[in-house]
Amino acid sequence: MIHPHEEHLVEEIQKGEFSFHPFLATWFRNAFGLEQIETLVVYEISCDTKDCPIEETIVSTKEKNLFLKIGRYRSKISKMDFHLAIQKQKPTSL
Ligand SMILES: [Zn+2]
Repeated sequence: MIHPHEEHLVEEIQKGEFSFHPFLATWFRNAFGLEQIETLVVYEISCDTKDCPIEETIVSTKEKNLFLKIGRYRSKISKMDFHLAIQKQKPTSL
């Protein structure tokens, strides 16, 4: 059962942390060796299907040259979720 999911822009920050998570921006910057001043953007992937279990969060740089998809709702991302996402992505894009 495959149906389309849409990306929705959640938040864009120039510095500091996202409003919904105390560490996510720092984890992302550290993992990718970014400067504090780099603009970060978060997207949420969702759909209108009621029973759909998909809850995904995408953290990226403004230019989208760095991009991490995390299989968890944005405010519930643990450090382990983050590391698993990094490891999953490594072979292709890091
Ligand atoms: Zn869905």
